[in-house]
Amino acid sequence: MAGHRQRTAISCKPCSALYLHIPFCLRKCPYCSFFSLAGKNHLQPLYVKAVSMQIRQTAANCDEKSCRLETIFFGGGTPTLLPAETLARLLSECLDAFPVAPDKELEISIEANPATVDKNDLAMLRRAGFNRLSIGVQSFTDRELALLGRPHTASDARQTLLDARRAGFTNINLDLMYGLPGQRIGDWGYNLERALALAPEHLSLYELTVEENTPLADQVRSGSLHLPAEEEVLGMLETTKTMVRQAGFTRYEISNYTRSGFQCRHNINYWQNRPYFGLGPGAVTCLDHRRYRAIEDIEQFAEHIAADKPIWEDEEHLTKEERFRETVVMGLRMTRGVSISGLRRRFGIDPVAYYGTTLDRLIKQGLLRHDNDHLRLSKQGLLLANTVMAELV
Ligand code: SF4
Repeated sequence: MAGHRQRTAISCKPCSALYLHIPFCLRKCPYCSFFSLAGKNHLQPLYVKAVSMQIRQTAANCDEKSCRLETIFFGGGTPTLLPAETLARLLSECLDAFPVAPDKELEISIEANPATVDKNDLAMLRRAGFNRLSIGVQSFTDRELALLGRPHTASDARQTLLDARRAGFTNINLDLMYGLPGQRIGDWGYNLERALALAPEHLSLYELTVEENTPLADQVRSGSLHLPAEEEVLGMLETTKTMVRQAGFTRYEISNYTRSGFQCRHNINYWQNRPYFGLGPGAVTCLDHRRYRAIEDIEQFAEHIAADKPIWEDEEHLTKEERFRETVVMGLRMTRGVSISGLRRRFGIDPVAYYGTTLDRLIKQGLLRHDNDHLRLSKQGLLLANTVMAELV
């Protein structure tokens, strides 16, 4: 993408992934540190108008020769808090505005919260062109869902998947969390069993992390909630490994498992540290040597868009070395790891020479493996990924 006008919109660079951030939520989950707002539904019309305008402004700066969309992702927040017709309209505006790769099927994902969609919504979303649905289940145990402050029940989640199948979705992800307060290995096994019984194509299984400045962090600090011990969490990971393998899933990223052919291309683009464009308040854009974050305030964002003023709250210039290190660390999240020759071609830096003795030590400690032109985390390294990455970032 290359532009003649550089005010609200960025002068674009080749980019194949578009993300649209929808920051509304029914209520704020106690563990959540994302930019999402509860009780602000009255701002939806303002948000939609501003994002529509941003789509047009961004597309006006888009160089049709270099920009070819391959993936679109509507995430949040809770995208399905917007009416399905509105989501369909926003998608159609994106498809009309941006050039699409001619030779690949577009992957168009949307996140859905079971409390906010019914079968008619799902049918409308599928007709509009969304072809990948990511359902925020988190748990199939109502007690755990209540603890997480989730606004749906296990039966709502199951119904959403069944409705999505009837609507024609053939690529469905279920998001689940483990390591919840009071959870035992058997509880997690039960959740996973319920998820696998629904035969999704993809599973995102995240360990609950306690983020600073969240109600969950306060509850853990005050001792009113207890997270499971480390051995218990390791046991949950072992259970996961066995159960997903038996069900025909492969782990391709630290937290992501797929049946053959259903890896999330949008997220792979992100883990490969390739460019992407983010629309909406709070969305991050990564193009060329720069990373931008849009204003995290819907009214201010809309005001800036309407006045064609810059909307970036943060703008960061990344040096070649910073981008190289980020690419290594993010690439190691994937089980295939990072290609050494690929890094050399992209950055002119050889990771083996660059990391020198640090790399040797991590390999000797059995945390990293170096084979077939790739660096990847070992089994043990996957368990200690944060420690390894802290050494390489
Ligand atoms: S639904 Fe998701 S984005 Fe919204 S508050 Fe809960 S965790 Fe955060």
